[in-house]
Amino acid sequence: MKTILVIEDENAIRSNIVKMLNHSGFQAVPAENGVKGVHLARSLMPDLILCDILMPEMDGYGVLSSLRQSDDTVTIPFIFLSAKADRTDHRQGMNLGADDYLTKPFSVQELLAAINARLEKQTEVAQPYISQIKQAAEALGSFAHFDPLTNLPNRIVLHHRLQAAIQASQETQQTVAVFYLSLSQLNAINDTFGHSTGDLLIQEVAERLRLHTDDSHTIARLGGLDFAIVVTNATTKNELAQQAQQFLAAIAEPYFISGNRLTVQAQIGIAYFPKHGDSVNQLLTRAAQAKNQPEATAGYYFYNLAMEAADVTRRMLKADLERGLQQMQFQLHYQPQVSLLAGRIIGVEAFVRWQHPQKGLLYPKDFVALAEETGFIQQLGVWVLQTACTQVQMWRSLSPLPLPIAVNISSYQFKKKALFESVRQVLAETKLNPRLLILELAIDELMADLDYACETLSLLQTLGVGIHIDNFGKTAFSLEALRRLPIHGIKIAQSLIMGVPHDSELTDITKAIIRIAQTFKLRVMACGVETQEQLTFLQEHGCYAMQGFLHMKPVPAPEFKQLLQVDKERHQV
Ligand code: C2E
Ligand code: MG
Repeated sequence: MKTILVIEDENAIRSNIVKMLNHSGFQAVPAENGVKGVHLARSLMPDLILCDILMPEMDGYGVLSSLRQSDDTVTIPFIFLSAKADRTDHRQGMNLGADDYLTKPFSVQELLAAINARLEKQTEVAQPYISQIKQAAEALGSFAHFDPLTNLPNRIVLHHRLQAAIQASQETQQTVAVFYLSLSQLNAINDTFGHSTGDLLIQEVAERLRLHTDDSHTIARLGGLDFAIVVTNATTKNELAQQAQQFLAAIAEPYFISGNRLTVQAQIGIAYFPKHGDSVNQLLTRAAQAKNQPEATAGYYFYNLAMEAADVTRRMLKADLERGLQQMQFQLHYQPQVSLLAGRIIGVEAFVRWQHPQKGLLYPKDFVALAEETGFIQQLGVWVLQTACTQVQMWRSLSPLPLPIAVNISSYQFKKKALFESVRQVLAETKLNPRLLILELAIDELMADLDYACETLSLLQTLGVGIHIDNFGKTAFSLEALRRLPIHGIKIAQSLIMGVPHDSELTDITKAIIRIAQTFKLRVMACGVETQEQLTFLQEHGCYAMQGFLHMKPVPAPEFKQLLQVDKERHQV
């Protein structure tokens, strides 16, 4: 229904016009003077204005010129009503931009004819603009609802569709599941081949997901490396697992982009209605949480309620971390590294511990990943370096041989340029001989970006520190990496030593690693040695040193000091 604003100071005329218009199918809004009229015009944005000329406070000309100054109201059709038939008045009104002029008294027909003529004219003029505006709105709508790279629905659409699916399933009792899917290794592809290759790969992933879905699914790109899929056609957990496996297999197939053969992996977290939540946000958050499970080795993982409790604990711990450092709740434990030839202590590794006021002594598995998530590992890492270097300086007199100290460096720290400066500064502050500091790094971290690793390690080497690869053999490595990386030693993973000498495969791998280390002239040390059998095997095969519970568990500094004293006395005799 069209709205018409009637600005007229004479009550009888105004109410007559209003009645007439309402009767003729318009919605008429009265204003008894010019000031009110302008105010109402701006707030109501009527389709047409009828306005008297002679009024107190603000006359009709004042109203018209005021409305013609504003972009919003300039196009509203404006018809003057006046008792004067004077030509000058007429011209003055038209000059100001009035659309028509009705002289009182006028009949209903005359009024309606003038109004309809103006409204039709307005529609004609506005039509091209309306279609342009519509097109722009559609384009904007598409931008607001679809991911421009993959043309998949975005988070907003996902939200609506998931909401609708949940509502529908309340009637049909159907399962509604959300798969939260994240790609890994794509950052390395972006770094190596450029972002345009990364973008093409994401498009191809979207295409493969499309091929493996039908109308019962909604796939959305949530941004970055994350996708979500709403699944409504599965009735059992088994069927959901099968679908997850199909998506993972499709994504894992190689991609051939710009002449390169590329591979990516994905992880999927699954949460479903009503078991894991009854709102869109709950299901999405829980599916994302499930995806981050370290046990999600199959590539997909279902949310379970135990995870919620674990999550609450994690959040509380995160909040405690910083306070823990301020209140000196962290400490280092030390484990000796023993030569397999002479049986002497030839080094020490420092392990961080957290004496939590409520939870007792916590181990790295309880908080290092959290500290990495929050970035707190930077501060903690510097504290570990400082404490370890200071401590080994204090033990100098107790060890006739130089006692190098090994410090674990997390992948988060390794990725930050600040690592070099922290090491340099700690060495300067503690005045420790750089040769007595060994940095332990994980091989998968180094392999992830070999160029960066070579560059960073070479830089660290300029400080004179030693570099060892930790947990060697636990994950894949290449001989090329070993050849290129400027390192001094490798530590055979505990998971291999565990199988020695009874598991023939693990034993063969361990032997091969010792041989490789010898070929590359690297020091080789075995981790997690717990039995005499393991020790004998390692001695027989030329391993240089070992660390493990067989000799000693990691202990606090005072106990390690006693061990050094005993070792010194034993070897003095
Ligand atoms: P890692 O460097 O490979 O450390 C070896 C882990 O095995 C240590 O556990 C150690 O206590 C344990 N271990 C040593 N000998 C034996 C043995 O004979 N048998 C068995 N079963 N275990 C043995 P911990 O202290 O819980 O450390 C676990 C991991 O946490 C470390 O693996 C290291 O990657 C990380 N970590 C420890 N301290 C730090 C630190 O100060 N900074 C960083 N960034 N990571 C640390
Ligand atoms: Mg280590």
